[in-house]
Amino acid sequence: MPLVVQKFGGSSVATAERIMRAARRAINARQAGSQVIVVVSARGDTTDELIELAKEITDRPPAREMDMLLATGEQISIALMAMAIQTLGEKAISFTGAQIGIVTDSYHTKARIKNISTQRMRQALDEGKIVIVAGFQGIDEDYNITTLGRGGSDTTAVALAAVMKHRGQETGGRGQEAAGRNQGAGGRGQGSGVGCEIYTDVDGVYTTDPRIVPEARKLDAISYDEMLELASVGAGVMHSRSIEFAKKFDVPLQVRSSFTDTEGTWIVPESEWMHDVPVCGAAIVKDEARVGIVGVPDQPGISHRIFSAIAQENIAVDMIAQNVGSGGKASIGFTVTKTELPNTLAVVRPLAVSLGASVEHAEEVSKVSIVGTGMRTHTGVAERMFAALAGAGVNMKMITTGDIKISVLVDKADGVKALRSVHQTFQLDKPRAGAGLPVGATPAAVPARAPAVLDDNGRDLAAITQQLSSMEEIVVSDVQLSTDQGSITVFDLPDETGNCSKVFQAVAAGGIIVDTIVQNLAGPGRAQLSFSVPQADLDRALQLTCAVAQNFDPAAQVLADANIARLFVLGIGMRTHTGVARRMFGALAERGINIRMINTSEVRVSVVVDQPRGEEALAALKAAFNVR
Ligand code: ASP
Ligand code: MG
Repeated sequence: MPLVVQKFGGSSVATAERIMRAARRAINARQAGSQVIVVVSARGDTTDELIELAKEITDRPPAREMDMLLATGEQISIALMAMAIQTLGEKAISFTGAQIGIVTDSYHTKARIKNISTQRMRQALDEGKIVIVAGFQGIDEDYNITTLGRGGSDTTAVALAAVMKHRGQETGGRGQEAAGRNQGAGGRGQGSGVGCEIYTDVDGVYTTDPRIVPEARKLDAISYDEMLELASVGAGVMHSRSIEFAKKFDVPLQVRSSFTDTEGTWIVPESEWMHDVPVCGAAIVKDEARVGIVGVPDQPGISHRIFSAIAQENIAVDMIAQNVGSGGKASIGFTVTKTELPNTLAVVRPLAVSLGASVEHAEEVSKVSIVGTGMRTHTGVAERMFAALAGAGVNMKMITTGDIKISVLVDKADGVKALRSVHQTFQLDKPRAGAGLPVGATPAAVPARAPAVLDDNGRDLAAITQQLSSMEEIVVSDVQLSTDQGSITVFDLPDETGNCSKVFQAVAAGGIIVDTIVQNLAGPGRAQLSFSVPQADLDRALQLTCAVAQNFDPAAQVLADANIARLFVLGIGMRTHTGVARRMFGALAERGINIRMINTSEVRVSVVVDQPRGEEALAALKAAFNVR
């Protein structure tokens, strides 16, 4: 029997009437022949109210007790939902996270799922009941109640879909091996046919936030990576970790409105048609903070010291930009969410003192990003973005690129203007070629684009079962080395609107394709820009860049370096796992390999090292992340 996990967000269960409506939806799915698991969030603003309550008692509520408090919000919802379903004449049973064995680590208020037992859910489902599970919560190994971080109910829903899909009938509490064998023998019988529907107060994923840019358009389908990159840059529709899970365990998702019956947005594996356009969405993170560490010794191990100290505090770093050093010194810039700034500065300041470097920071900054799978195959995307921003009079403080995302940091006051201008430039208000499901089509009618369910064909069930036992471990899927590019660095670029754009216009006019771009501030009023181009184009790129840079400042220094190796660590959970950068930089530091450039995105972290150390660095990173 197919199984569907339906998740209802806080607004979808805010009133009795809405709970009844959600209950009817679950019943409809049950009566249409599916087993149904319902995951609910706390009602309306309950979680915020609980946080306020705690604040009335103390400014610094202990994290363990905070989780004890917050978990009550979801417990109210599950009970009411079970009553609603039963009142409407179907069988239902509610469970807390602890009751179905959602085991997490012990990081209160931001715990990660380690394992989920399917036994109790299976049993109830097999008795014909609709199973209702409290989102957002779990239990650690010492039976303390934990929560998964704000918005964590999405993660609960996807995680439940993942385990139900890949772990068939559990034979005992921990019978993972047996489960693997069961599935192997039973083909894709029990585990297949699992879908996950996320019901919320918006009707899907938009090209950008329609409240900010009214001409934003709903997307019919989007790839996991696109959604991941968008979610990481503030497309607040879903919790990033839930999408990582979905990708990792092949769970197709549909985000849709709980108030209407219109199709929402499918979040699915990447397919060909997604390459038709370079950009599928744009987003803004309004409340970022930038930290710059200026004048750190350009030596092996320094980045590692900095980012491991930050990771130690469980602070997630977002953009990281480090350019090629000069005069034995480098500067490293990164962003954290504004709320994490005080903690971050507390860690970084003493460290900088010991390194003889200085720390600067900016609070009023926003990050604007464009995302699209099609960037892999389209050229000149960055140049178009920068030209749009220059045209809108927006200055860029920092630039990082991933393979399907370009992010720039701008003054908060310019954020919305910047977002609008890129949305317009990439014509995101127009239908996305090839992306639309035909009007009125059910997803099952167009399986190639948006499969309602995926089967387990071609996946190694034993490996999946193994992964499920450490559900949220970082999964680095690949480490790659590339020596076919050289880098150009412009030192001391005046930090003014349009300068970067002019550089890339000149380079693009020369027919040269730019790959990675990193820009960072390097002291007051000065930016440093590095980018990579094919080795064969390096000399020409140097000449073109020099010509432009000398227009800004006749003494401008531009350097070409053919002697670089670029290394990419690809995977999921790169950002939400504070330890990725630490592990990566640590592996290189251990071997005394100097990191010359750093660039990050949600699904890819890249570093540049000296070319002769490339192979060695590759081996070190593969070992660090267990990649063959
Ligand atoms: N109730 C929790 C929150 O508001 C979890 C969720 O809604 O997903 O953060
Ligand atoms: Mg909520």
